[in-house]
Amino acid sequence: MSQVASSPSPARRINLRTPEVMEAVQAAVEAHYFSPLVERLRRAEGAVKFGDMTVRLAKQFGFCYGVERAIDLAYAARKVFADRNLYLIGEIIHNPDVNAQLSSMGIRYLKGRGKTLDLSPLKSEDVVIIPAFGTETEVQERIKNIGCQIVDTTCGDVMSVWKRVRQNANEAVTSIIHGKADHEETRATSSRARAKSGEAAHFLVVYDLAEADIVSDYIRNGGDRGAFLEKFRNACSPGFDPEVHLRKIGVANQTTMLRSETEEVQRRLREAIVARDGNAENFRMFDTICGATQERQDALASMLQNPPDFMLVVGGYNSSNTTHLADMGREKTPTYFILNAASMESAQTIRHFDTHRREEIASTNWLPSGPVDVGITAGASCPSNLIEDVLRRLLALRGISLDEAMV
Ligand code: SF4
Repeated sequence: MSQVASSPSPARRINLRTPEVMEAVQAAVEAHYFSPLVERLRRAEGAVKFGDMTVRLAKQFGFCYGVERAIDLAYAARKVFADRNLYLIGEIIHNPDVNAQLSSMGIRYLKGRGKTLDLSPLKSEDVVIIPAFGTETEVQERIKNIGCQIVDTTCGDVMSVWKRVRQNANEAVTSIIHGKADHEETRATSSRARAKSGEAAHFLVVYDLAEADIVSDYIRNGGDRGAFLEKFRNACSPGFDPEVHLRKIGVANQTTMLRSETEEVQRRLREAIVARDGNAENFRMFDTICGATQERQDALASMLQNPPDFMLVVGGYNSSNTTHLADMGREKTPTYFILNAASMESAQTIRHFDTHRREEIASTNWLPSGPVDVGITAGASCPSNLIEDVLRRLLALRGISLDEAMV
């Protein structure tokens, strides 16, 4: 698909993905993120033995199509706008190594978020990259008004969610978004749920089943309006009134949520509407989990039917889809959500992210001696070179040289 960088001036549209540019981009992207070794293991489709250690890679893991495209576009922008300042709104994806790589190419990061995003460094001749999660409508407008060239890397699957919530807004249906209220994608989606000319449309973000139950209970029985608004004060549209704006609802979700949880959120909210109204006329839902997230969750579920002795889940700690993979793993086997190979400090100590406490912790005696079966997967924002590093480090801690083992 040819990508167009949109701009405030309708005349200034530039195709970044020309064959010459893409040839150079692909060479650079492969050099930075590709791993022939990981590809070889991926093709092996199953368990690979290294001495008395068995390693199983999930059938789907790592970079998704949306992330690959966003990175391609950022590299293409660097090449095409070689003599101009390039800025990114926040992180292009949730992986610190990838973001550091872009920094080293001279791409700068705008500080702040949403209304507090600091656009003061921008001049009209600068180029601004919108990340794969998209950004809020008002941020996009502010940047357009400065006159910057915009390179929009928003994933098509995120835009599909926007289409759904806009449709809700146009029909005065409140969007209930299953997601994390302060996640970039959900903030971008929420802003589209407001985008209705004339009468304001509304949204409410629910993070988990406990929050879905609070909303369901209010739909069925009403309740303490003040307490409800306090609970969701950072997760609903200005002027949201549960007495009025829960009459007609449409459920959508952040693309990277856990499917089983999203389905349960939908089911509970639908039941509440039916209990109140006697039918589901005031309820609609759209499944907006993206294909890549779904494939990674399915591949892990398949691996966990025969759980390994422990799992390594590799990715950025602020990555939503990786967090859900780690949560899935933890239900079946000891699971360590690690940032990269350096997280495995020694055979005794590993640093990993606790998704409930939302902090990095250290565990000891994580790597057993003797025969062991290890499962590995990685989130959609994790490049293959980091997975190779993890594999090499794991084997080194067991005294195995990967290069010798793969001969
Ligand atoms: S995780 Fe899904 S929505 Fe996000 S960039 Fe990848 S394909 Fe797009």
